[in-house]
Amino acid sequence: MQQMLADINSEVGYTRHLIGKASLDQRLMDAMAQVPRDEFVPDEMKKLAFDNGPLPIGHGQTISQPYIVALMTDLLVPEPDQSVLEVGTGSGYQTAVLSLLYHKVYSMELIPELSKSASQRLARLGYTNIQPCCGNGYQGWPEHAPYHGILVTAAAPYIPEALREQLAPGGRLVIPVGSFRMSQQLLLVTKDAQGHTHTRDILSVAFVPLVDQSPAAFDE
Ligand code: SAH
Repeated sequence: MQQMLADINSEVGYTRHLIGKASLDQRLMDAMAQVPRDEFVPDEMKKLAFDNGPLPIGHGQTISQPYIVALMTDLLVPEPDQSVLEVGTGSGYQTAVLSLLYHKVYSMELIPELSKSASQRLARLGYTNIQPCCGNGYQGWPEHAPYHGILVTAAAPYIPEALREQLAPGGRLVIPVGSFRMSQQLLLVTKDAQGHTHTRDILSVAFVPLVDQSPAAFDE
């Protein structure tokens, strides 16, 4: 774990010119130190759980690299009394980090089996302020909107309009956008008090695609 935190700090240092700061928020780094990443990876990957890289979690999906999880969360500027929407629950690792930094986390996953296993894992590990659901994140989750933060952990070809709409004034949306499989741009979209959005390009990333389908398509 200590090595993972040191690796995150080093990579933040290498990319300081892109992210505009030399270190990430201490509250966030404390949350990263608390979440046991080895609980979120398959048994055969446990040896690699604290390496600073993505790992396969089944269904062709991956748990994101710790540096990217930390960076994306830092870009959201979490506030303890606010709520956040995550699109792409996957293993639930990022969800757990968010749960330590927000009052309430809504997390959507398209693949029913992943949604179910992540919900069970998060409950077993004692994270109680998370509401998971199986659904298509392209549409967001209007019932609980607006969100102070929206975090998308799969790459979209464009910023889904529903997510832009469900962002609260003063809120922040972090999303990888691009159509290439191996490289997209991580964008930070902020909404001002008048409801206008502004987009900042942070750096290149590589995410699995955000799929615009109904979860029913994944049921056997
Ligand atoms: N945050 C996750 C990363 C998972 S990879 C983790 O730390 O483990 C991205 C996830 O997004 C995959 O599980 C994939 O099934 C899911 N996904 C893809 N398209 C989606 C959509 N339209 N709505 C919700 N989830 C989606």
